[in-house]
Amino acid sequence: MDITIRPDLILFEPIARRLKLSPYHKGILSRLNIFTVKDLLFHLPNSVQSRRFFETIQDLKTFYSDPKNISIKAGIVGEVVVHETTKVNHIPTRVVVKDATGGMEIIFFHIKPSYLLTKLPVGRRFAFGGAINTYLGRIHMVQPDVILDPLQKSTLDGNDRIYGLTKGLSQNFFRKIMPSIIGALPNIPEWDDATVKDHNWPNWTIAIKSLHTADSDMDLAPTTPARQRLAYDEFLAHQVSMILIKQAYHRAAGIPKLCQGALVQKALELIPFKLTNAQVMALNQTLDDLKDTHQMHRLIQGDVGSGKTIVALLAMLHTVESGFQATLLAPTDILARQHFATIKPMCDQLGVEIRLFTGRDKTKERRINNEDLQSGKIQIAVGTHALIQETIQFQNLGLTVIDEQHKFGVAQRAALSEKGHFIDTLFMSATPIPRTIVLARYGDLDVSIIGEKPPGRKDIKTLVMPVTKEAELIASLDRSINTGNQIYWVCPLIEESEVLDLTASEDRYKQLCEALPHRRIGMVHGRMKGPEKDAVMAEFKQGNLDILVATTVIEVGVDVPKATVMVIEHAERFGLAQLHQLRGRIGRNDQESTCILLYAPNPTEIAQSRLKIMRETNDGFKIAEEDLKLRGGGEVASTRQSGFPDYIFGDPFEHRQLMELAYNNATKLLKENPDLSGITGDAVRLLLKLYNRDDTLRYVRSG
Ligand code: ADP
Ligand code: MG
Repeated sequence: MDITIRPDLILFEPIARRLKLSPYHKGILSRLNIFTVKDLLFHLPNSVQSRRFFETIQDLKTFYSDPKNISIKAGIVGEVVVHETTKVNHIPTRVVVKDATGGMEIIFFHIKPSYLLTKLPVGRRFAFGGAINTYLGRIHMVQPDVILDPLQKSTLDGNDRIYGLTKGLSQNFFRKIMPSIIGALPNIPEWDDATVKDHNWPNWTIAIKSLHTADSDMDLAPTTPARQRLAYDEFLAHQVSMILIKQAYHRAAGIPKLCQGALVQKALELIPFKLTNAQVMALNQTLDDLKDTHQMHRLIQGDVGSGKTIVALLAMLHTVESGFQATLLAPTDILARQHFATIKPMCDQLGVEIRLFTGRDKTKERRINNEDLQSGKIQIAVGTHALIQETIQFQNLGLTVIDEQHKFGVAQRAALSEKGHFIDTLFMSATPIPRTIVLARYGDLDVSIIGEKPPGRKDIKTLVMPVTKEAELIASLDRSINTGNQIYWVCPLIEESEVLDLTASEDRYKQLCEALPHRRIGMVHGRMKGPEKDAVMAEFKQGNLDILVATTVIEVGVDVPKATVMVIEHAERFGLAQLHQLRGRIGRNDQESTCILLYAPNPTEIAQSRLKIMRETNDGFKIAEEDLKLRGGGEVASTRQSGFPDYIFGDPFEHRQLMELAYNNATKLLKENPDLSGITGDAVRLLLKLYNRDDTLRYVRSG
């Protein structure tokens, strides 16, 4: 009988079984999330270390007398002459070795001298590999990373891949196991032959191998064909799974919200402005989703001040007229209250019952609210997340609007929709993000973009100023208050310490009060109790305060149209997206608005670039692109903040075109082969499994 062994199975074989590892090593690898052969292959080297073997100690010394060479590691054979140890803790042990041409020291830290003596007995020869250090004209090897029998000395010449480690694991481990793993890799079927051929990319196996046999850091760069290919694969897996989720949403039964549209009509007559074309388009797309029999999962994306709230309100009114309840969830208490305050007058005029739910409600109030929600008396509920998490019962919730929820991941969204209730969901995001990130993060949603601002808005003028000019600044602020301006003064969040943060803003508050005793100055910060915060915000909004000193609590969504000046202190500490969000608090009326970015001496180069970008443009999308570029240029660790999911091979900047390509190809692929059948279908299933997205295979339509 012909038994075919699936070649790809080796990729999913438990690493411990494959390599006959001890439970100890198995445990260590699991800390790096390495469980299978594939996981090990996806643990990429961080860099390549070149190493050079020297035939004699004299050759070695000559080579390293040139300080340029110090980054290269050395290999050398020597005979152990003596161990120089001391009883004093933390003083390293020096092992002197020699050959016919001379002697040198090899230095060991944190190793018990008695143990070292048994490992490196006097009179024996060993091959040592490690970094070389020069100190006071002496050359020595520090903490060798390989010690071998002299017969194996040839392995000390050439290049070493350097892997991320964890406690109990050494580079030696990878050096030993990688060749056997790489050697056993099967060729696997292509999931997207055309694209691979188009780009002249290596096949998957060769691409993976090339990273683990890299000879220089260049071989690991995101621009190599191997990395391009692997990044593309990863994006393709992600996009295919996003589309599968999206299709499942579209198939999920929803309840059509049908009505005459009288409430929306009346509301449109009541608002004192005309919707922009972009608002009309977003509204129509949303209403179409609501009327339709499928569940809505839509994201409305628009820069700060582009007018998303009114679109959400109209969608809620449509839902209400259709006989359902609607809810608006905001990430913070302040924002929930503000939405409530903006929306309530309109609802009152329309005879729609709206209520605010926050964690601060009194017990009695809460009971009444809950009863009214359950009986259906309340038609629109505005609140924080507590509103869906608590054991609150709606009579018939039809629409949930989620505002400014940057951190709402795909998994959470899927969980929300699987709660079942046929509820339509509308997300609103004020973080303009590049398309790459939209696809990466919101690929499962339908997206409406409000890409224009209401007419008549003036661009915000942005000035960049060293903090040393503070006195002049304060004097000019004083003059601008005379002409009726209100001012935000933003103090940075000091991440390590909420207390420091508070102190900084308190100091600033006191100092401004002293400098401008005739002005009305208020302060709001994250540590204040809710009602206190509200009271200060309300004073500011009513024009009873000239200056509001604030920490970044004001960041999201606060709307005080009369405030036209903002000072951001230590602007160099903020990210671009955050600066843009903050600045969006001003420029909300037809007056000229000014943002002053104060920076402390000697900002980093990246900080300087950020400030420059802020000065040059008001366009949120452009800022987001630049942000990505800057991050791509070094601050990669913070991509998580930008919402780019953690990819192994993919880089949000370097590979941005590949994300788009993957999106297009995934769409095409699922259109041509919706049930993922045949050989290509199998290959795509393997792709999803490789990149841990196979849970979405349950959404594949069968037959
Ligand atoms: P976003 O939530 O998108 O940041 P908002 O919905 O808070 O923006 O709108 C910002 C301000 O613009 C609000 O004061 C709102 O009343 C006003 N606004 C919204 N749409 C328009 C429009 N089409 N014309 C004029 N003003 C508008
Ligand atoms: Mg619908």
